[in-house]
Amino acid sequence: MLEALKEKVLRANLDLVKYGLVIFTWGNVSELDRASGLIVIKPSGVEYDGMKASDMVVTDWNGNVVEGKYKPSSDLLTHLEIYKAAPGIGGITHTHSAYAAAWAQSGRAIPCYGTTHADYFHGAIPCTRGLTAKETGGEYERSTGLVIAESFKKTAPAEVPAILVENHGAFSFGADAREAVHNAVCCEQVAKMAYLTESLNPGVKPAAQFLMDKHYCRKHGANAYYGQSGNHK
Ligand SMILES: [Zn+2]
Repeated sequence: MLEALKEKVLRANLDLVKYGLVIFTWGNVSELDRASGLIVIKPSGVEYDGMKASDMVVTDWNGNVVEGKYKPSSDLLTHLEIYKAAPGIGGITHTHSAYAAAWAQSGRAIPCYGTTHADYFHGAIPCTRGLTAKETGGEYERSTGLVIAESFKKTAPAEVPAILVENHGAFSFGADAREAVHNAVCCEQVAKMAYLTESLNPGVKPAAQFLMDKHYCRKHGANAYYGQSGNHK
């Protein structure tokens, strides 16, 4: 079942390696099949090298495995809570890519210091609060998703399609798995650029709101004009 989607989710996971966002088995990508309400996600603990489309795991909305010989990624419950909280999201990527994770470990949102950031994220990439001892000791992965959902009330994922979880790493979103990976790559790159910017100028201020608005809005929304027609990436 969902053979084409399994192939797509496999490719998206392998792209994390291609773009240098993961090592070993770190990281995962999933996509929600809207027609069936099923989710395809990377298996838990399987090496990227030699990973096949048939290794992908299909689960239902409650996390029950519908098809697959492996257990799903241990982050599945986080993904499910994100899908439930934001109906516009169709694909999710999770990484511990170094620069994004460094901001997460610092408990800091990534300020928008320039146009590269503004092209993809309309404002700072937020950092969630840390999980409590009770949340960490209970349903940890589900609580991580709920903490992310809490943050969506302040920053809409449609406008800022990435978020940092304090002391942890980054989650990125998109209409599908491919777009979620694209945004994960952009998140890591702007995290790196922001780090370098603050290194060169510790007193630097975020870019002006009018510049952020200009760059975001020329690529997104009704009046977008960047790129070829129908392709604003
Ligand atoms: Zn993680």
